[in-house]
Amino acid sequence: MVKETTFYDVLGVKPGCAQEDLKKAYRKLALKYHPDKNPNEGERFKQISQAYEVLSNPEKKRIYDQGGEQALKEGGMSGGGFSSPMDIFDMFFGGGFGGGRGGRRRERKGQDVIHQLSVSLEELYKGTVRKLALQKNVICDKCEGIGGKKGSVEQCPTCRGSGMQVQIQQLAPGMIQQLQSMCSDCKGQGERINPRDRCKHCNGRKTVRDRKILEVHVDKGMVDGQKIVFTGEGDQEPELEPGDIVILLDEKEHEVFKRTGNDLIMRMQLELVEALCGFQKVIRTLDDRDLVVTCIPGEVTKHGDVKCVLNEGMPVYKDPFTRGRLIIQFVVNFPKIIDPVMIPALEQCLPPREEVMIPDGAEECMLTDLDPEQESRRRNTRQVYEEDEGGPSRVQCATH
Ligand SMILES: [Zn+2]
Ligand SMILES: [Zn+2]
Repeated sequence: MVKETTFYDVLGVKPGCAQEDLKKAYRKLALKYHPDKNPNEGERFKQISQAYEVLSNPEKKRIYDQGGEQALKEGGMSGGGFSSPMDIFDMFFGGGFGGGRGGRRRERKGQDVIHQLSVSLEELYKGTVRKLALQKNVICDKCEGIGGKKGSVEQCPTCRGSGMQVQIQQLAPGMIQQLQSMCSDCKGQGERINPRDRCKHCNGRKTVRDRKILEVHVDKGMVDGQKIVFTGEGDQEPELEPGDIVILLDEKEHEVFKRTGNDLIMRMQLELVEALCGFQKVIRTLDDRDLVVTCIPGEVTKHGDVKCVLNEGMPVYKDPFTRGRLIIQFVVNFPKIIDPVMIPALEQCLPPREEVMIPDGAEECMLTDLDPEQESRRRNTRQVYEEDEGGPSRVQCATH
């Protein structure tokens, strides 16, 4: 049992979800609320980042699950604070992105732009080409990125070319403070374009917005989270090498098949008669073929049995003629009740029961239904309680 669920709610996941689901939730939301796409959602972006930072770290997650946000604040977390949302983002997406921001990494290269592309399992199975329309900045071809006529660039009169403005403040008699800030007229460039000569096409901005259609080749066997990079297709800026457009694949959930690696997993419902007397079933594959699976009479399939069909899983990326396995988990539907009249006949068919000797004085008791889900919840609560009693040495196992 966790103390509070705020961080889980922010990411839209349930406590106890797999790390994989956590990553997927973060990926989706971080891209959606990234300041580049959603400048007004800075607070949201920060919350998503903080929630992910805590829940993806086993130690912080343990503290949070036990004591909530308050416990984190009370010094459970080293440094007591959160990392910058941008650092979390860059770390998550592999560092290549956001290079233009702050100019730390690749000063001469523009920022990479990430787009998420939602693809179905069928598309990843068969491969597809998707067209994606994007807006991007390109160098203005009328002024060739100068922003005005050749020779129209002049020193900024406000800062006299330094790009900085200096303000002098008197704090007290004889005590002055110099404040330096970026020149707001030229945005720190030190030069400007004379308004008379400004390019009409780009309005002096040097770049214009352009619509671009990208053909994204989704190859057979590509996986959720895989990146398809269009080198140099990012926004253009004068004197900067353009960044990349990165397409990030997002695999949609399929209603029949669940993918793990190259294997596909499905559940197959069987009636009890099929489980005992054999069956034939048809499976529609992701490329619309029909597979027949047979269990011959005489073989019994138990509830929870797992079987597989070789080479009917997902194709292997870059080796599409090799495929993973199709794994089938059997779910046997037992009848709720059986007509007592039928029981003698049924008993004739089934292996005989073992004879039970009831000792003298045995006590008769009632069987009561038990809800396994409710039971596991109760066990969790009890565990936390016991740990509180047991002292610090037992706190380690709190998250189970
Ligand atoms: Zn200036
Ligand atoms: Zn122009």
